Amino acid sequence: MSFEPLGLIEPLLRTLEALDYREPTPVQKQAIPAVLKGRDVLAAAQTGTGKTAGFALPLLQKLTMEGSQVAANSVRALVLVPTRELAEQVAQAVQQYAQNLPLRTYSVYGGVSINPQMMKLRKGIDLLVATPGRLLDLYRQNAVRFDQLQALVLDEADRMLDLGFAKELDELFSALPRKRQTLLFSATFSDAIRLMAKELLRDPLSIEVSPRNAAAKSVKQWLVTVDKKRKSELLLHLYRERGWDQLLVFAKTRKGVDELEQLLLAEGIAADSIHGDKPQPSRLRALQRFKAGEVRVLAATDVAARGLDISELPRVVNLDLPIVAEDYVHRIGRTGRAGATGEAVSLVCADEVELLAAIETLIGQIIRREDEPGFVPDHRVPQTAPGGAVLKKPKKPKVKVIPGAGKGKIHMGNWFEADDDKPKAKAVRAVPKFGEKPKPTKKR
Ligand code: AMP
Repeated sequence: MSFEPLGLIEPLLRTLEALDYREPTPVQKQAIPAVLKGRDVLAAAQTGTGKTAGFALPLLQKLTMEGSQVAANSVRALVLVPTRELAEQVAQAVQQYAQNLPLRTYSVYGGVSINPQMMKLRKGIDLLVATPGRLLDLYRQNAVRFDQLQALVLDEADRMLDLGFAKELDELFSALPRKRQTLLFSATFSDAIRLMAKELLRDPLSIEVSPRNAAAKSVKQWLVTVDKKRKSELLLHLYRERGWDQLLVFAKTRKGVDELEQLLLAEGIAADSIHGDKPQPSRLRALQRFKAGEVRVLAATDVAARGLDISELPRVVNLDLPIVAEDYVHRIGRTGRAGATGEAVSLVCADEVELLAAIETLIGQIIRREDEPGFVPDHRVPQTAPGGAVLKKPKKPKVKVIPGAGKGKIHMGNWFEADDDKPKAKAVRAVPKFGEKPKPTKKR
């Protein structure tokens, strides 16, 4: 099926041909006609599904067809996104899609000077991509007005809430005209997202092109507990001992990704990396080399890994657990695709037990633990239990005095983390002799 039956106008069809988009993706097939008709849309779709064109093409068409002039400082369509990276990416895509249309598109986000953005907004913008914080700043300074606004897109709505934009969003929503078209895209659907959708959308068309919250059944998930400082060593060990072939490794920070890549290269393993500090061409090159099999281990951060489409990847390793539990589902969704079985292995240290409990609550299962001989951690990772419970160590070590027994203290706790292993030789309250009045305990 080509794009023509979806009702797109000739300049857009020409653009799509130039971009070599031969047929619409599933989300585009459903979203384009609905948005053209003016319907609200609620879509479960992540990056990589073609969702940007799914909302941008019909909105750009509507803005063009209506032909009205955008007033000074006004915006006719607004796309809210969680991060600067995504703002850039979406704005670039929109600009491409609008190349044959007489429209002004632009993006605003924080972390850069606000003045050029104010200047640019003066003439008015047909479609503006924005992060919530900066947009609110601009609004408060009267640099942007919403009275001409007719369409609002919330892109990666779950991510916006995860990043703590709920208040900014509320303030923005109350500044927007009530009569408008609203499209909400989210990879996952928490109660907060459902509530937001209920409040903002009117009789929306629901589109689902990716499984919700559920970790793919075909992915075998397990974890190894390990001390934080030995994670990379364990990764190398597992890679060699188990004869692992290609793997995608997730680390929490850009620095962590860089360090891992350096270590792997120093060990003679073909490795590459993708993260937000790397320019787009080198990210793309890393991905292509990985897909072509020239790279055995690709290290990545979550931000950069969103949108990666790698089919038939046998294994994903979490060198660090993600801060946001939903990212675990995205990460392991990179393997076990299209019916293939995959494996997701997490290297978990004691500091990460709360993150682990949150992930297990989200996926509704306790991840199987395996000990790796030689790597059993000094800092034990507390057991987790269904419902997100962490079976904590006792608050204070129980210490009992045995009269005349050398140093006089025996460690009676169930288990302790290494730092607690040597209970401090603080006096246990003296037991009064028979007939003696107990001494009052000093208040600390
Ligand atoms: P998105 O999910 O919107 O971030 O899009 C993911 C990637 O797919 C982007 O690089 C788009 O340029 C590309 N893309 C989107 N729609 C199509 C299509 N119909 N045919 C080919 N590529 C597409």
